[in-house]
Amino acid sequence: MQFPQKHTAAGTTIFTVMSALAQQHNAINLSQGFPDFAIDERLAHALGAAANEGYNQYAPMAGLPALRQAIAANFAHRYGLAIDPDTEITITPGATYGIYTAFTAILQPGDEVIVLEPAYDSYLPNIEMNGAIPVPVALSAPSFAVDWQRVADAITPKTKAIIVNTPHNPTGAIWSREDWDQLAALVRNTDIFILSDEVYEQLVFDGQQHYSVLKHPELRQRSFALYSFGKVYNNTGWKMGYCIAPPALTTAFRRIHQFLCFTVNTPAQYALAAHLAHHTEPIHQLMEHKRNHFLALMAYTPFTIHAPTQGSYFQVASYERISSLPDHQFAEWLTREHGVATIPVSAFYKNGKDDKLIRFCFAKKETTLEAAVERLSRLG
Ligand code: PMP
Ligand code: GLN
Repeated sequence: MQFPQKHTAAGTTIFTVMSALAQQHNAINLSQGFPDFAIDERLAHALGAAANEGYNQYAPMAGLPALRQAIAANFAHRYGLAIDPDTEITITPGATYGIYTAFTAILQPGDEVIVLEPAYDSYLPNIEMNGAIPVPVALSAPSFAVDWQRVADAITPKTKAIIVNTPHNPTGAIWSREDWDQLAALVRNTDIFILSDEVYEQLVFDGQQHYSVLKHPELRQRSFALYSFGKVYNNTGWKMGYCIAPPALTTAFRRIHQFLCFTVNTPAQYALAAHLAHHTEPIHQLMEHKRNHFLALMAYTPFTIHAPTQGSYFQVASYERISSLPDHQFAEWLTREHGVATIPVSAFYKNGKDDKLIRFCFAKKETTLEAAVERLSRLG
């Protein structure tokens, strides 16, 4: 049997590899981005209640109306944005699926898509699975700001889309209004679409604000914005998310969605609708506290942290004072010999660029973080 090569990514995704290695060596898993603490029990209860009350059959293709309305109300409340729940919101089984579906809605073979690297590892394969060509553009370490001249240089008549991610995985960098203005200037008078991966929008620290593409009236017209409930309610295993896009783009998105998965888990939609309608308090404090705790502990280790992460679940650190191993080997060694699993940042580059950085996930119980850093401090 032969299978066509649908994409060029080698082997298995790094998140699976490192979580499996962590398990194999009984290591503390700060690699794959998922919390190790309980979710809000009201949300867990709402899920059980929905199933018990009989909400167990297919929901409408675009998503449960009550959930789409709750999302629209939430965006009005948090961002002052008017979003039409009927024509602009589609519920998806997570953001990874939303990204793939948006790409599939717009890409044809031979199209080019600009990807700012380091980039979340599904983007490139998703582009290639649609016959299109990823065009990587490196962000500028150590701040990981966008070099707009490099983006301008990468645009060609074949450029169909640019995918951006703020807050950024793995670096935690966040975009300002000026970044969006720069992007708007580059795509003005073109047909280039924007995919804006905003899964960590509610995890922005130090009093800063998330700037959504939806808040940029000019760019919003050409953008798919992708969200994940997993990162809001710390229930990544529910795999629930949504896509917000203007009506014409949403129509194109649903043309694909209706034949990819058609509709999303009904009881989870009921539970999220109920929860979202009743609980609108900001959620960043919990994760900001964990970041601060983690950074304070890391000061006792030989890792170098160039700047505190501004958002997301993640902190990147350099091991230049510990080892000169390539980052994959270093991450494996750290898991095997010191019992702490992390993600090598080269996994976020098409060409495996290795800056000797690893990514820690601090979305963990304080006891987990303390136990991990206790092991890391022995490296010094
Ligand atoms: N984008 C980024 C930047 C992510 O870190 C993740 C990881 N969860 C996703 C998308 C995917 O989210 P989901 O689990 O909802 O598919
Ligand atoms: N988004 C998570 C991370 O970056 C994991 C998602 C996955 O395992 N595919 O770690």
